Parts: sequence; structure tokens; C-alpha cells
Amino acid sequence: MKYLSTRGQTPPHTFSQAVAVGLAPDGGLFLPETLPDISGHLAGWEKLGYADLCFEFMRLFATDIEPEVLRGIVAKSYAAFAHPEIAPLRKLRDRLHVLELFHGPTLAFKDFALQLLGNLYEHQCRVTGQGIKVLGATSGDTGAAAIHGLLGKPDTAVFVLYPEGRVSPLQERQMTCTGADNVYAIAVDGSFDDAQRALKAIFGDREFSAQQRLSAVNSINLARVLAQCVYYLFAWLRMPAAERSHIEFVVPTGNFGNVFAGWLLSRMGVPVAGFKVATNRNDLLHRLFTTGEYRSGSVTPSLAPSMDIQVASNFERYLSYALGGDAAAVRAVMEQIGATGAYRFASFDRNLFSSSRADDAEISAIIRRVQAEHGYLVDPHTACAFRDLNPARTSIVLATAHPAKFPDAIRAATGGAPTHPALEALKSRAVVKHRLPPTVAAIKAFIAARGM
Ligand SMILES: *Cc1c(COP(=O)(O)O)cnc(C)c1O
Repeated sequence: MKYLSTRGQTPPHTFSQAVAVGLAPDGGLFLPETLPDISGHLAGWEKLGYADLCFEFMRLFATDIEPEVLRGIVAKSYAAFAHPEIAPLRKLRDRLHVLELFHGPTLAFKDFALQLLGNLYEHQCRVTGQGIKVLGATSGDTGAAAIHGLLGKPDTAVFVLYPEGRVSPLQERQMTCTGADNVYAIAVDGSFDDAQRALKAIFGDREFSAQQRLSAVNSINLARVLAQCVYYLFAWLRMPAAERSHIEFVVPTGNFGNVFAGWLLSRMGVPVAGFKVATNRNDLLHRLFTTGEYRSGSVTPSLAPSMDIQVASNFERYLSYALGGDAAAVRAVMEQIGATGAYRFASFDRNLFSSSRADDAEISAIIRRVQAEHGYLVDPHTACAFRDLNPARTSIVLATAHPAKFPDAIRAATGGAPTHPALEALKSRAVVKHRLPPTVAAIKAFIAARGM
């Protein structure tokens, strides 16, 4: 299987090459040249456990990795999950289920992709005999998941930039209390946007990033999207056959990565009735799906901080399919969005995609209501998904984080806060972080002086 850039100006890459570089050199995102039709496999995959299913799925894409090696990489990636089912599906009532994606090491769904990505990087270092420096910017969950995906792996170093004082104390502890000597949590004196800007400039310096063997760990890596397809498939296979074609996945959404993975899976011959994009007050995607216009706005902090995003990075992949793979058309739209911040879509499949928006007051009210009605505690991101469920469909809500990660929001909503042993254990460990100004020169010098 070969991988092509949405912008059409990058030669075809193998899976491993596309994973290693992350963003395509022409600025586009990688997509498989063709999508396999997996409908013929579904019956045979029904009884597989999570890691075995993931292996069967990933081997269709990671064709340049020996199957037995890939099996090992996948098995290792899900061994660190605390629940035997990895992604348990819980029934709250008839036609309402929650897919719990928070049993990984950092208690958020990003572990599904980043545990696998970490092991793919490790494999790559072994094959090429060269180390790798992984660099990312985070407003919270991604950085923690990336760090835990690479923790202690030989020949790798991970550098995560985050805005000092603007991630939650628990999220900061997950990044800074690891005790691993290949982890560099860098608190920059600035905003997330400052960190992101510095990161872009660093990757823009091709010579520096090649010389340092830098790889980007952000939501646009192809391996992340494919790894995320698997839990949709796993949940779909766990539902009674008669209900499967009525399923609507309800997805708390920031930059469209998670929900895009579900949609991509549906294109491979897995019938899904709908995808509901649930946003917080930063409602770029809700506005897009209700008005047809993509228009980025400014970000307002909310109770669901990992969705405080107004740029849907993964949207370019959807756009590429919507435009029939016409790379010149994708380039033109991305140029227009870059220049004007907006783009109007001709049409959407409104039966397939719907959306909702929840502001902070609604998030709090939902946390209380779901607890009262179902005896089930949801985190503030997952809460967004409980707005306006479609009664005509079987809803599977993706629970993207454990509620104990957001004790302040939960306490404000319910009066009590859950705890989690993994988080409690962090509180007695030493914080190791590096303070830097958000300047390209300072960050480059830090990276060049460390690792491998
Ligand atoms: C990252 C994150 C999201 C948003 O995911 P996207 O892939 O950006 O749509 C939602 N909830 C939690 C808890 C997250 O960490």
C-alpha cells in the first residue's frame, strides 16, 4: 500500500515513511492510495480481542512491516491498558452506549494512537539504525499521551512544548513526573499558539529538522488516524447484528481527527448510520455542519480544554475525499482558507453528519444529568456528546477522557470529584520541566543539545 499527499506534490511514500515524516513535504496530509473494502472480513473478525483486531486491520495498511513484527508492535501497544477489553462498551440504556476510551496510561483516548505510534517509531529506529527526536506542542492531553508512548524507548527523545500555567496541574504532572531521561517537557512562557508557531517554524527549517531527525507528533500523523479506526470497528462488532446499521457514533471533537477516523472506516464497507460531531463553545465544526461554511474564529477557554481548537487540521483529509482526490482543488481550497480564514461547501451529507454544541453551563448540567439518570460520571469532553442525541438511532458516545482528569469541572458540577490511582501516584513524584521563551532560537538550541 502506498500513501499519497492530499496536495499531490509529494512522491508516494510507504507506510513507515509516511509515519516517520508525519506531515507530507508539500504541506499536505497522507492518505492511502486506495481504501480496502473490509466488509468481507467483518464476520471473521467478530470474536477477536482488541489487539488481534487491531493487528488484522493495521496489516492492510502497514504492508511494509513483516506481519509477525507488526503483531508484536500492536500487542505491546495495548498491553499497558488497564481494562481487559481495552475499549469496553457500556450500555446506559436501550440505544445508548458509551465506548470508554480512557483506560490507557494517560486516561484519554489519545493513548490508542500514541502508544502504537511510539512503538512504530521504536521499530523504525531499529530498522534504520538511526535515532529520532519527536517534537510536539500540546494544550494538554496530546503531550502527555505522546510522552507516555515514547517513555524510556532507546534511541528516541521526545520534546513537548506547552504553555506555562495554562495546562491543568494533573496534565502537567503527567508530562513532567515521568522520571524518564528521554523526555523533555518544555514549559514556554507564552500561549499555546506561541508554542505552535515556534514548532511550525522549526519544522519549516528543513535543514535543521533533517539534521536533528525530527518527527512531528501531532494529530495529522497517518498512523494516528488508522489506529483510531480500530475502536470504531471494535464497538461496531460488539453490537447485535440487527442494530449495527442504526448506529450513530457521537464524537467529542476538536480538530476532526477522531471523527474523521470513524468516517474513514465507514468508507471501507462498514455500514454506519451517522456521525455526530459534538463541540464545546469553540464551535467551528458545529457551524460548518449547520451552515456549510468553514470559518475559523478565536479560541475561548472552556471546561473541555482539549477541544478548545478553532482549526480542524484533519479536515483536509475529508476535503480531499469530498473533492474526489483532486489535489489541485485541495490546494486551492487550503490557500483560500489560509488567505481568508473561510470556505463555503457546496453540500454535505446531512444524513451522515450532524453536530451539536455545548457551552460550559450545559456541560455542567449534562454531567449532573447523566449521573442522575444513569449513575455514570462523564468528563467535560464526553459531556458535550450528550447534547441532542438522535432518538431514531442507536447512539454510541465516545468517552474520550476519564473524569478524574478534570476534578475541578466535576466538583463544580456534582460537588464531588473522582480520583484515579494513576493520577494520585503522580502527586508524590518530582516535577522535571524546562522553562524556555517561545522563540525558535531558544527551542532549537535546546533540542540540538540533547538526546541520543
Ligand atoms: C484531543 C481530545 C479531544 C478532541 O479530539 P480531536 O481528535 O481533536 O477531535 C476530545 N476529548 C479529549 C479528552 C481529548 O484529549
